[in-house]
Amino acid sequence: MRFTTSRYGQPVLEMGYLPSEYELVPRGASYVLRLGKHTFSTNYANAAGMSIWYCSKRRRQKCKVRIRMINSDILDIQGLHTHN
Ligand SMILES: [Zn+2]
Repeated sequence: MRFTTSRYGQPVLEMGYLPSEYELVPRGASYVLRLGKHTFSTNYANAAGMSIWYCSKRRRQKCKVRIRMINSDILDIQGLHTHN
């Protein structure tokens, strides 16, 4: 994976270096996104199918990593995990 810096100064995963290993796992009425050892959840999707997924450690570890998806494709990943 390769990171670059967004115009907001955050590390962003460079397009073209998106992880190939991720999956949407059914969890209750919705899904969690599993990416490596991390899981993400969402509570937002707009009419165009874009959703924003937050690291499951967002509250406990104050982790700011978020993933934007369009339908089931990863658009970009912002931030770095504050935990292992
Ligand atoms: Zn995290």
